[in-house]
Amino acid sequence: MPKNVIYKTLIRGGSVSLAVLDTTALVNEAILRHALTPVAAAALGRTMTATAYLCSWLKDEKSSLSVTIRGDGVGGKICVAGDGALCLRGFAEHPDADLPPRPDGKLDVGRFTGMGTMTVIRDDGDGIPFVGTSELVSGEIAEDFSAYFLRSEQRPTAFALGVKIGTDGKCIAAGGLILQPLPGADEETFDFVEREAAKYSNLSTLLEERGAAGLLSDYAEPSACDAREIFFRCHCSRERVADVIRSLGLKEARAIVRDEGRISVYCHYCNTTYDFNGEEAEALFADGGET
Ligand SMILES: [Zn+2]
Repeated sequence: MPKNVIYKTLIRGGSVSLAVLDTTALVNEAILRHALTPVAAAALGRTMTATAYLCSWLKDEKSSLSVTIRGDGVGGKICVAGDGALCLRGFAEHPDADLPPRPDGKLDVGRFTGMGTMTVIRDDGDGIPFVGTSELVSGEIAEDFSAYFLRSEQRPTAFALGVKIGTDGKCIAAGGLILQPLPGADEETFDFVEREAAKYSNLSTLLEERGAAGLLSDYAEPSACDAREIFFRCHCSRERVADVIRSLGLKEARAIVRDEGRISVYCHYCNTTYDFNGEEAEALFADGGET
C-alpha cells in the first residue's frame, strides 16, 4: 500500500512555509472503514488532509488536536482527530449521504457540509486546551480552513485541498498544498502566495498526474525537504473499552447485560463495535475490580 506523506519546507528565501501532502491511501482507508459515498469521501478526505497539516505543527507526539465541522448540509457533522505522531482518525455523521455532482462536474462538498462552524481543540499536554472557532465560509473545506487560520491564529494561509474518486468509489488521488507567509512577510510575498495558490484549483488532477513530490519540485528539491508519514490509526482497543466498562462498576455492567443482553461500545472514528457478553463482562471484574 502506498504511503501517505507530508513534505514541508521554507521557500522564497525563507519567507513562506510550503507543505505538500499526499493522502490518497488515508482517504482509501476512510472509504473502506466507513463505506463513504464519493462526496462524503471528498469532504472527510479534505478535512483529514487539512488536519494532518495542523498536526504537523504540534510540538510533540503526545500533543493532539481535533477538528469538528458542524454544518447544516446532508453530511451532518464531520469529526477528525489526530496527534503529533501524525496518526489520524475521522468520520462523517452521514457517510451514506449522496448528492449529484455540481454543474462543473466536481463533487458537491459545499452542499454535503453546508454552512455552520468549525472548531479546533488543541491539547499540548499542559492541561489547558486551546479552543478556536470560526464560521464556515463555503463548506468546501479549503476556504473554511483558510478562514479559520486568519480568524483564530491571525495567519493568512492558502489551502488547496483535493480528493478525486474513481467510478469504482476508490480514491485515485488526494492531498493538499498549503502556503503560509511567515510573520513579517511583505506585500510582494502575499502577492506571491495568492498567485501560486490560484494554480491549484484542480489539485487532485495535478496530484494524479505529477504526485506530491512532483508538485513540490517546482519550489524545492524534494529530497532536501522534511518528509513525514501520515497514518490512519484509531486509539480505541478492546482493552480500552474494558477499562471503560470497569469504570462503570459491576452493578451497572450487570444491569446493562440484563437489559441489552450484552455490553456494546461503538467507536465512531473507525466504525468498530466492541461486544462483551455477560460472561466476558463478569470476567472484567474477576480480579477484584471495582464493584
Ligand atoms: Zn476507533
